[in-house]
Amino acid sequence: MAMPTKLSVNGAAGRMGRQLLAAIAERDDTSLVGAVDAPDQPGIGVDASVLSGAVASGVLVTDKLDDVMASSQVIIDFTAPVVSLGVLEAAAAAQTGVVIGTTGFTPEQLQRLYGYAEKIPVMFAPNYSVGVTVTLDLLDKAARALGDDYDVEIIEAHHRHKVDAPSGTAIKMGEVVADALGRDLATCAVYGRQGITGERDPQTIGFETIRAGDIIGDHTVLFAGNGERIEITHKATDRMTFARGAVRASVWLSSLPAGLYDMRNVLGLV
Ligand code: NAD
Repeated sequence: MAMPTKLSVNGAAGRMGRQLLAAIAERDDTSLVGAVDAPDQPGIGVDASVLSGAVASGVLVTDKLDDVMASSQVIIDFTAPVVSLGVLEAAAAAQTGVVIGTTGFTPEQLQRLYGYAEKIPVMFAPNYSVGVTVTLDLLDKAARALGDDYDVEIIEAHHRHKVDAPSGTAIKMGEVVADALGRDLATCAVYGRQGITGERDPQTIGFETIRAGDIIGDHTVLFAGNGERIEITHKATDRMTFARGAVRASVWLSSLPAGLYDMRNVLGLV
């Protein structure tokens, strides 16, 4: 068998980081070589398995990103935009591939992220679940067939701790629909409504955000016409679905040259 792909996780103590450690541990074609989190986090200095519940890995959680970078073929980062840009900088210096799960980048931060993809392989998807990746394809098909006669609204729900809105997945869904309809999401998106809004502009794509409890991630895209409507819904019930997808994407990325890739490339959809 080929050597296991050497992976590390940044943000290892986070909700997703712990799941990523577990998803790496459950495969036999990957090996964990580094687990990193911020200096003030509980878990620094302990075996990574304490965070994931997996069997002991021999890898101690560290706050020294540079120490793990050189030994990693790919580093997986689900943290925050500023942190992810720092990881890309360090990865570019070490020529390490990066799988980014972080959402909430500003347009300017996104341009910087894309710039690193000219130097190293970068995988960037707001949602690593296979189901959402397939859903994006369904949305493209639906929007092309339905055209401008159907109003498009995107409704998403997440847990109370989520810090960005609308979700990266909802924005990605909006981009896919806008592209299919020949619109620019930057100018046609409407985020929430209140007061005397006037009638709906048919060229708009609306977003509604719910933040409550421990919802892992629900997305519905509504296409509403006269006399009928279609609702395309995805519901995540376990964070492991994102983690397994991201680890699968990491193995896929490890043999590729510099470039920008997303989960649709991994599934062979584009
Ligand atoms: P979280 O707050 O539970 O975890 C973030 C972790 O990053 C924390 O452990 C934090 O200490 C760590 N961190 C902060 N600064 C750091 C630094 N300088 N160096 C190293 N680590 C640092 O958040 P979460 O729920 O795990 O989500 C993280 C991100 O992933 C969010 O942007 C979220 O939207 C995104 N997310 C993406 C997907 C996907 O499939 N793409 C799925 C779920 C969540």
